[in-house]
Amino acid sequence: MTTPVPQTVRVSAPGKINVSLKVGPLRADGYHSVATVYLAVSLFEEVAATAAARPGITVRVEAGGPLRIPASGIPLGPDNLVARAAAALAGYAGIPDPAVDLLITKHVPVAGGMGGGSADAAAALLACNELWGTGLSAAELASLGAKLGADVPFALAGGAAVGLGVGDQLTPVAAAAPLHWVLVASASGLSTPAVYGRLDALRTTSGAVAAEPETADAAVLAALAAGNPAALAGVIHNDLQPAALSVSPALESTLQRGRELGALAGIVSGSGPTLAFLAADGAAAAGLETALRAEGHNALAVYGPAPGAEPAAPAAPADH
Ligand code: ATP
Repeated sequence: MTTPVPQTVRVSAPGKINVSLKVGPLRADGYHSVATVYLAVSLFEEVAATAAARPGITVRVEAGGPLRIPASGIPLGPDNLVARAAAALAGYAGIPDPAVDLLITKHVPVAGGMGGGSADAAAALLACNELWGTGLSAAELASLGAKLGADVPFALAGGAAVGLGVGDQLTPVAAAAPLHWVLVASASGLSTPAVYGRLDALRTTSGAVAAEPETADAAVLAALAAGNPAALAGVIHNDLQPAALSVSPALESTLQRGRELGALAGIVSGSGPTLAFLAADGAAAAGLETALRAEGHNALAVYGPAPGAEPAAPAAPADH
């Protein structure tokens, strides 16, 4: 008996926040070394890969999710990270004429500092690997993913991890209990290269000399391992935050408001502009979400760690 070939494979992959992000000086190759602690959160992108009748890789994007992320501002051609992921997998696996339609359902803010595009790429890699029966190992997918974007290996892995290099050299770390956060999305995104550029400029102006980051923050790892939000609140840190606030000064007042409304701490997620507020527990996060929404903010309570890329739960059966 032959195994039926699936016609559509749906995979989800999480957005991330960086609970600690140390950024080194600008390197000769234009990148920055980082030492970061990633936390995958329960806001998932979804990619559906469907076998196409004719050769080619097509991409569609559907707006979605509780943050009402618009489908605009995302390239639909070969530059889309899901198209690049499918092409990279086909190239590696020796598929000469890949034929697949990829549908992204957006939940993670675009250009939001949460690695949404990387989550899409991770989901597309896993979905096409299943659709095409190419059977790549997790390590092979991670190494293909690292060439697409520094955050892709983490979106495949999920959980919590230290990221070194440009963020792609991962070591999973323990997180004893789910931590509860409230995300606040902005109406428009920030360009990651622009925020890194602003960091370099701020450092030049102030004469600050950044060290090469070699290890992740031990206090952050200890608080995660203990599942202790109060301890984590005292040590979460993002070297990109002053640069993100300098590019987008309005974020400062929202950060302050979240703390006034009871967050244990607030931080810019990655290169921003999404903000992540740490709450004491799930009930506190739900209350903070409600309070921020009442003031017009696009807020959502989430938890982390969340799982990495995995087959999406089947759609609920229709009512009869
Ligand atoms: P970073 O991983 O650099 O922190 P980010 O999370 O801030 O990025 P993303 O949403 O991943 O931002 O997208 C950054 C840019 O990548 C977008 O502005 C868009 O032009 C491009 N892009 C390509 N493919 C995708 C995709 N599938 N989803 C979102 N953006 C994409």
